[in-house]
Amino acid sequence: MIHTTHAVFAVALTEVMLASEHAPITWQAAATAAVAYAVAPVPDIDQPESWISRHIPGASVVSMFVRHRTLTHSLLVSALLYLVLFGLGLRIPDWLATGIWVGWVSHWVIDLVNPRGVQLFYPLPWWVKPPVPWLAIEVESTGETVIRVALTAFAVLFALAYLFLHAPLEIQHAAGEVLPDARRVVGWGTWPWFGAVCRFLHLQ
Ligand SMILES: [Zn+2]
Repeated sequence: MIHTTHAVFAVALTEVMLASEHAPITWQAAATAAVAYAVAPVPDIDQPESWISRHIPGASVVSMFVRHRTLTHSLLVSALLYLVLFGLGLRIPDWLATGIWVGWVSHWVIDLVNPRGVQLFYPLPWWVKPPVPWLAIEVESTGETVIRVALTAFAVLFALAYLFLHAPLEIQHAAGEVLPDARRVVGWGTWPWFGAVCRFLHLQ
């Protein structure tokens, strides 16, 4: 996946997380999504041609030591990052820690559809790949474009619908005809079990 696909997937995932936790509309919620958007492309620092390697001076050094889709795409690094952000008492604001972690984890989640897979259990030598060929999506393929457009549409629609459902009642009444549609869209992306998992992980 290219950096923009990772970024919009991170935003969509953050929105679903916040809605599933019934989060109020705050600047922290918006900032969480913005941080996730910015962090999502970073694990591809292990690839010298990636957008992030080309835009951070000296970043391509990482790819000389780390093979693509291994260490930075592993559960090990995700767990260590979680420990740093939430477990060491560093007093990192919740919105910042959540945005960083969700952005990072969202990266390898969507990379799991890559035909060559991800070394998720690094340093163990197993590569996790799509279980069936039709689920595999090549980087910069038409399939990736379709996914990126669909994710962008979902993220925009979902945010608008969620904002509308949290708007003052006068505004909701004034545009009452879209209320059922807004409820339906928010309903699609509100998963109680996901909200419970995120609360358990202190993501907010
Ligand atoms: Zn990647």
